Parts: sequence; C-alpha cells; structure tokens
Amino acid sequence: MSRYISEAIQIQVRERACYLCEYCHASEQWQYVTFTVDHVITLSKDGARGIENLALACFHCNRQKSDRLTAIDLESGEEVTLFNPRVHSWRQHFIWSKDTLSIIGLTPIGRATVTALDFNRQRIINIRAEDSKIGRHPPSNDPIKS
Ligand SMILES: [Zn+2]
Repeated sequence: MSRYISEAIQIQVRERACYLCEYCHASEQWQYVTFTVDHVITLSKDGARGIENLALACFHCNRQKSDRLTAIDLESGEEVTLFNPRVHSWRQHFIWSKDTLSIIGLTPIGRATVTALDFNRQRIINIRAEDSKIGRHPPSNDPIKS
C-alpha cells in the first residue's frame, strides 16, 4: 500500500497547520529539517488516506508517536487516546506554562500526550527559551497559563 501524499495535499496540510507541528507547536519556519505530513491513524491501523487523517508533525513528535493511538495518563493511571489534531482542539488539551517553556496537559488526553511525545525534554526547552527572546515563541494564538 502506497504512503504517497501529493505535493498539493502536503501544502494544504502545512497551511491548515499554520506551519506548526500540530502536536508540540514547534514552528517549521525555524527548523533545519522540514516537518512530516503524518497519518494520524496509520494506514497499518486502517487510518483514512485523505487530508482528514493527516497532520503536520515535527521529526521528534512523528518519531515518538509512531503508530501509537493511546498512552497512559500518569495522574489517573488510565490508558487514553493520544491527542488527535483532527479531532481534538489544542487549546482544550494544552496550555503553555507561565514562562512559556513547557506545555502543560489540561486533560487526561493532554497529560498522556505530553508524556508520550516527550513535549518538555530539555533540548526543546532550551530552544524555546532562546526563541522566546527573539519573539519566535510561543505561537501568537496559543493560550498561556496566567
Ligand atoms: Zn512536535
């Protein structure tokens, strides 16, 4: 089965995502490596082939997510679905910490995804800190904890 995604569809996915990783909200604009257009539900798990199942993902999130669909919420101990950018709203499940360096999960889905995709590893916190000094971070419409 072909995983081919046409150039036109990839452009639509990028524009829809405002050029952000739809998981960790890193901006593709400042990355050395272009982001991946990812099947949210992989084809091997019968995910749809169309744009309704595609998301823009940075290399790290794409690799961490792989073909996973669920993860454990450490607070409740329950297995929950991973954040799905086609179904869930980012701002309903995540908020930036007051210093904008970390993503906080607001819900079981948010918390499980923060952990599973390792949203707050030290390397990305360092990048966010430098990017925020020059106004590249956080994305302008994202919620920040007051
Ligand atoms: Zn990401």
